[in-house]
Amino acid sequence: PHKVGSEENVQLNNTRLSQDKPHSARMYDYFLGGKTNYVVDRQAAEEVLRHRPGVVVAARANRAFTNRAVKYLALAGIRQFIDIGTGIPTAPNMHEIAQSIAADSTVVYVDNDPIVLVYAEELLDSAPEGATRYVEADATNAHAVLAAVRETGCVDFTRPVAVNLHALLHFMPDSHGPYDVVRTLIDHLAPGSYLSVSHVTGEFAPAAWQAIADIYTNAGTPVQIRSREQIARFFDGLQLVEPGLVVAHRWKPEPASGPSLVTDADVSLYAGIGRKV
Ligand code: SAH
Repeated sequence: PHKVGSEENVQLNNTRLSQDKPHSARMYDYFLGGKTNYVVDRQAAEEVLRHRPGVVVAARANRAFTNRAVKYLALAGIRQFIDIGTGIPTAPNMHEIAQSIAADSTVVYVDNDPIVLVYAEELLDSAPEGATRYVEADATNAHAVLAAVRETGCVDFTRPVAVNLHALLHFMPDSHGPYDVVRTLIDHLAPGSYLSVSHVTGEFAPAAWQAIADIYTNAGTPVQIRSREQIARFFDGLQLVEPGLVVAHRWKPEPASGPSLVTDADVSLYAGIGRKV
C-alpha cells in the first residue's frame, strides 16, 4: 500500500493524471489561487478568464457558500456529510468547517479524479472526535457512490445526512442522468437529511458562460449550464430552506464589512439547500 499523497503515490498516479490536457479540478484550483495546477491548466483557465474575468469571483463565492452551508447544516444538527465532487483540497476543507462547529462530525469525500486522490491526505486530518474518509467513485452512478460510502462504515444511513453537490452537477449533462442520480441519493437518506447544491447558470451572462462551457467541453469535460428552473428541479420533493434557491452570494450572506461589489453575473451560480421531510 502506498501512502496517500506521498511522492511515490504522486509518481504512481502520474500516468492517470493526464497532465497534457487541462483539467476542471486543476483549473478551478487556479481560479482559487491554488498551486495544484500545470501549464495546460493555467492556459485553459486564462482563456476562460478572457471571456469572463469574474470567474475568479464565482469560484470564491462558491467556496464561501460551502462554508456557510456547512456551518448552517452543522448548526441544524447534521453530523454526517457526504461531499460528492470534492475537488482539490483547499482551505478550509469541509471537515474543518463542520468540525469547528461539532468536532464529532464525519465527512466522506467522493471524487472520480485521480488528482484529488493524490492530495487526499489533507482531507484526512480529521479531529479525533470525528472521522473523514476519501473514496473514488463516479457520481453518474449513484449506487456505486452509495456503495463506496457504505463501505467506509462511517455513515449511518438510518440517521440524517447532508449530501453536498457543490459545483458538480453542471459537469453532468442531461445525457449522464443527473436528475435520476440525485433522486436515487435522496431516496436512500433518512428523513431530516439535506441536499445542498451549487450550479452554474447562464441566466445573467448567457454568451460568456456558453463560451466558457464550450472551452471545457472542447477540452474533454462536458459542461451543461442550466436555468434556475432546471436547477430547482434537483430539489423536487424537498423543502427548500430560507432563502430558497438564490445566486450563491445571496444565500445567507454573513454580515459584511461593507457593501458587496459582487454581481449576479460574475457569480452566475445558483445555490440552495433542501430538506427531506
Ligand atoms: N465541490 C468543490 C469542487 C468543485 S470542482 C467546490 O465546490 O469547491 C468539481 C469536482 O467534481 C472536480 O473535482 C471533479 O473531478 C469532480 N467531478 C466531476 N465529475 C464527476 C463525477 N462524474 N464523479 C465524481 N466527481 C466528479
